[in-house]
Amino acid sequence: MPNAELLMPGGLQELTAALRRATPSSRLLAGGTDLIRSMHRDHWEPDLLIDLSGVRELGYVRLEDGTLRVGALTTFAQLQADPLVRRHACCLGEAAAQVGSAQIRNVATVGGNVANASPCADSVTALVALGAEVRTIDGGGRGATRSLEQIFVGPGRTSLAHDEAITEVSFAALDADHRATFAKIGSRSTVTVARLSMALVVKLDAGEGTVSGAKVALGAVGEAAFRDARLEELLEGRPADEESARLFAEGCMDAVRRAIPGRYSLPYKQHAVLGLAYDAWNALGLCDRCEPAWG
Ligand SMILES: Cc1cc2nc3c(=O)[nH]c(=O)nc-3n(C[C@H](O)[C@H](O)[C@H](O)COP(=O)(O)OP(=O)(O)OC[C@H]3O[C@@H](n4cnc5c(N)ncnc54)[C@H](O)[C@@H]3O)c2cc1C
Repeated sequence: MPNAELLMPGGLQELTAALRRATPSSRLLAGGTDLIRSMHRDHWEPDLLIDLSGVRELGYVRLEDGTLRVGALTTFAQLQADPLVRRHACCLGEAAAQVGSAQIRNVATVGGNVANASPCADSVTALVALGAEVRTIDGGGRGATRSLEQIFVGPGRTSLAHDEAITEVSFAALDADHRATFAKIGSRSTVTVARLSMALVVKLDAGEGTVSGAKVALGAVGEAAFRDARLEELLEGRPADEESARLFAEGCMDAVRRAIPGRYSLPYKQHAVLGLAYDAWNALGLCDRCEPAWG
């Protein structure tokens, strides 16, 4: 990239100053696993590259007053190993563990995964189920917070301004009554981009043996990961049993049908989601292993 100017801010204040110089052709560089590949593949270069690697204060996981805060530069390797993530957002840890290869996870960041706005982004499916918010800072030093859904405009497109950087994603930490999981299907068993992904969060009433407050996000179905209210209502107050697993799996098929009517991938995805739904349900360990009645 012989013509791109490179700025390497050493902290948040310098990042703000660098953002002030950004134009619509400028780019932030985090792990580079999407950006550098796209520059090579599409033979383009930004006018200004802002390398975030020196903004070390953006790599963290913190629990504050029941909110889990994840700095934008936190890598998937860090997320996958983090004890707070394992305890309070296990679906995010599981999603992180399934991103690419160990080499990719060592450098790829959660901020880059969100900003890249791929419908297949694994952490995004988990973050949508967790109801995450995104915090940003701009070239004027102004902070803003919006929901993930407000960030995504379309595949590969976000509402982020050219002088705006993601600094954090945050969400309500799950407590011990919650169970959460992430599952995905790709064309290979490892190092694979999701053809379909799902994050499932439920609250378990152990005394009653029922679930409530289900949050289900589907990824790689349509333009961005989404939650489906009809599907979530199906599970409200249901016993944690095999019949609920069946209803949930059928509800997932219905959600996929409603999300991508007429799409060439619909026949594949509506069947694939049935298996994925059972995988997710079984991973929650709510009842004895359930199997779909194929056919
Ligand atoms: C071999 C391979 C396998 C992969 N497998 C997976 C996979 O299984 N699942 C998956 O989800 N992804 C996968 N990816 C995609 C990629 O690794 C992720 O999307 C990653 O999270 C991108 O993060 P990054 O830090 O590398 O971002 P970068 O490549 O540095 O940046 C990506 C985009 O986000 C912008 N950006 C970065 N940080 C910020 C910020 N803080 N604020 C605003 N904008 C920002 C950049 O300007 C750029 O437009 C794979 C990539 C490769 C090369």
